[in-house]
Amino acid sequence: MNAYVNPLAGGEAIVATSRIEDYIWNRSFDRPTLVIDRQVVAQQYRALKAGLGRADIHYAVKANPAYGVIETLIAEGSHFDAASRGEIELCLSMGAEPQTISFGNTIKRPADIAWAFGAGITLFAADSEAELEKIAANAPGAEVYIRLLVGATGADWPLSRKFGCAPEKALALLNMAQALGLQALGLSFHVGSQTRRADMWRDTLDQVAAVWAQAQGAGHALSLINIGGGFPAFYGEAIDGPTDYAAQVMAMVEPRFPGASRIMAEPGRGMVAEAGMIAAEVLLVSKKSDDELCRWVYLDIGRFSGLAETEGEAIRYQFITGRDHEDTGPCIMAGPSCDSADVLYENRPVQLPLGLTPGERIIIRCCGAYTSSYSSVGFNGFPPLDVVVI
Ligand SMILES: *Cc1c(COP(=O)(O)O)cnc(C)c1O
Repeated sequence: MNAYVNPLAGGEAIVATSRIEDYIWNRSFDRPTLVIDRQVVAQQYRALKAGLGRADIHYAVKANPAYGVIETLIAEGSHFDAASRGEIELCLSMGAEPQTISFGNTIKRPADIAWAFGAGITLFAADSEAELEKIAANAPGAEVYIRLLVGATGADWPLSRKFGCAPEKALALLNMAQALGLQALGLSFHVGSQTRRADMWRDTLDQVAAVWAQAQGAGHALSLINIGGGFPAFYGEAIDGPTDYAAQVMAMVEPRFPGASRIMAEPGRGMVAEAGMIAAEVLLVSKKSDDELCRWVYLDIGRFSGLAETEGEAIRYQFITGRDHEDTGPCIMAGPSCDSADVLYENRPVQLPLGLTPGERIIIRCCGAYTSSYSSVGFNGFPPLDVVVI
């Protein structure tokens, strides 16, 4: 089996996925199965770390919470960004030290804040007055950073509106945190997931740096900048390799945040996407009418069983079949459930082999991130995405 080397990643051979393909082609599966290669996770951690230098990597657990992933990352020395009590418990149960876990969700249950603080978690995110009050009441004296809302950057999967406060509000929140007896350490933001090029960070970094300077001017001795995630994976469009990309980002971060003795980065997708492939099956190939150009290809996995990021056709997965040397034609792709929203790609059809037949294996590439964690428990009776870490 060929090693898969990303031809567009600046010449960096970032993934050798032959182990996953070997595993998939040599087995049968009774349901869609995500196969993760822990060696690729470790390799990706090291590649990102090489570029991020002095920044601490807090892996965003939601991208893929599989035990094997967390275990591998703990062994590599990763820290963690958790959004809930469940994610914190997962990391602790695998042996992560509480001081290495940040509670990064800006929308927390008060009882979970108190529980986390009791478990030794000391670093919390907030983007509003009410959240700061909750933290002060349930984790007195804790460290906090204020999450900023930043403008759209052109990320393929933007996170823009839901989280963060407007930049002009940040100083008031830092002041309030201090007044509540919390340690207001710094700022955080998220540039948007799958931000394909490092130079797309520049405007965002400028916006955040302006707030940083303003807060310093107002007397806050800020020490922490959390640059969030956004590190891209290879879905067929050119990206820089992880080390190069991370180094470019750090070169922009360093001069903009004077006094930042602590830098955090929270890669999710960029850490695990390329470490996974899904073994799926073609359930049906059909045409709506005889003269239609496009075939409809229905898989045993869809929007509700792991491929949620096909929403708006935002993330375009690549497929491998056993017929990749044969002639291809355009296909509309859909999942198996009885929900008409369960269409994966229709506006931009996918080229698949003309001979593709029901019952055949189809492998979905680069889907170690945001697939198993987005899979429903069994919508319409279809089983959730199975996960195997090899
Ligand atoms: C989801 C999330 C991340 C990870 O983002 P990626 O784009 O997958 O790297 C990082 N930080 C926070 C706060 C998040 O919510």
